[in-house]
Amino acid sequence: MRGESLEKLFEESINSINGLRRFSDSELDILARADKAAGEMAASEFECYMKHEVNMQAPEIAKKYRLLGIPISEEYGGLGSNHLIAALAKERLGQIGLGFSSFFNVQVFLGALSIQHWGSEAQKSKYLVPAAKGEKTLAFALTEPEAGSDPSSMSTAYSKSGRSYILSGTKYLITNGSIADYIITFAKEASIGGKHTAFIVDAHSAGLGRTRLKEKIGLFTSDTAMLEFNEVEVPEENVLGEVGKGMKVAYSGLLNGRLGVASGCIGIIEGSLNAVISRAKERVQHGKQIGKHQLIQRHIAEIRQNLEMAKWPTYFAALQRADYEKDINNKANIEEAELRTALAKKIASRLAFESADRAVQVFGGFGYSLLSPVGQLFCDSRVTRIYEGTDEIMELKIAEEVLGSDFEAFR
Ligand SMILES: Cc1cc2nc3c(=O)[nH]c(=O)nc-3n(C[C@H](O)[C@H](O)[C@H](O)COP(=O)(O)OP(=O)(O)OC[C@H]3O[C@@H](n4cnc5c(N)ncnc54)[C@H](O)[C@@H]3O)c2cc1C
Repeated sequence: MRGESLEKLFEESINSINGLRRFSDSELDILARADKAAGEMAASEFECYMKHEVNMQAPEIAKKYRLLGIPISEEYGGLGSNHLIAALAKERLGQIGLGFSSFFNVQVFLGALSIQHWGSEAQKSKYLVPAAKGEKTLAFALTEPEAGSDPSSMSTAYSKSGRSYILSGTKYLITNGSIADYIITFAKEASIGGKHTAFIVDAHSAGLGRTRLKEKIGLFTSDTAMLEFNEVEVPEENVLGEVGKGMKVAYSGLLNGRLGVASGCIGIIEGSLNAVISRAKERVQHGKQIGKHQLIQRHIAEIRQNLEMAKWPTYFAALQRADYEKDINNKANIEEAELRTALAKKIASRLAFESADRAVQVFGGFGYSLLSPVGQLFCDSRVTRIYEGTDEIMELKIAEEVLGSDFEAFR
């Protein structure tokens, strides 16, 4: 690996897996399209990042390259591929920062897969088909101002009124929240013992207010919003999964989303590595290229090691999904998937943050500028240790899977 370009690093990932498990022509075709999409998005991501603007080309380009239905069955407008291919596609998107990548994660891993897993046939044809084809955008709204790591403590409430449910409450930090057409959300009903239910809500429903949250420290090209449900009426046929079983839908969505986050982190590490290789060869200080200073070589060697360490737990978790998908209610499969995914997310996100930080160091003062290729990666990498389950929650999950459910520390 010489890392001359982002495409080369992606090719290296594909080749390393291809040596173990042969990709089909159609899988390679999807990956080639992900490569093209990332290439086409790079310039506008940079421009929008500088202006702190949401990049509205993301849905367009993802649709153009038919990326949004990768793990969705062909019956529902998808490509009928698997999590490994979706994860690899997301790796390539992550190389250019996490804006496009976060859009993709919510649309595919949290949104479309949740409807594929839990939706009725009518919901699949109405919501999943257009989402998989990129005609409609999805959001997944679980977090609230007072309920993040413990989403079951949510205060968004629903009550039944005739053939509808009435939802009131606030959801916070929701990716795609102000651009989505449909929002998968969660609420609690006091009269059934505080149980939760998942709903698919039309984003244009009366009583739903959406405010874009701009005061972030990175991820500027991704839409993050606050959603205020003020007696929003949702028809009863829009319950996703069973009434009272909403947390099952929420946790399975997060399980999928975490795999996507880990994959995006590999992209961040590749982006960091690619940038430092060029910089180390171009920049001259003390009479030689900085890449000839051994302490700079250490940063580069550490980033290269981080790449290797982030990849394999993530690819392994993605491969394991084939077993999980066969029966998503099977306890052993769920436990294995939880462990593999928590390991992948925890390891990859820490290494992505560390790699981007090292890359900024190699760039020196220019690395602290958003104009450098590493400033944006550094700003974006921080959120991966928070969203879809913090570092601490991942650690508790890993310990629980190791020690057994009697030791579950966070419920
Ligand atoms: C840019 C961005 C996009 C996001 N997108 C979405 C989205 O699309 N949909 C969505 O629903 N949410 C989204 N989130 C929300 C995100 O998932 C939450 O921020 C995250 O789950 C943490 O919740 P919190 O912020 O409330 O932190 P808190 O839960 O308040 O945690 C604060 C600290 O306490 C720690 N902590 C909490 N409980 C424990 C415990 N039992 N043991 C040890 N430590 C603990 C946490 O690890 C953390 O360090 C997004 C967040 C960001 C920043």
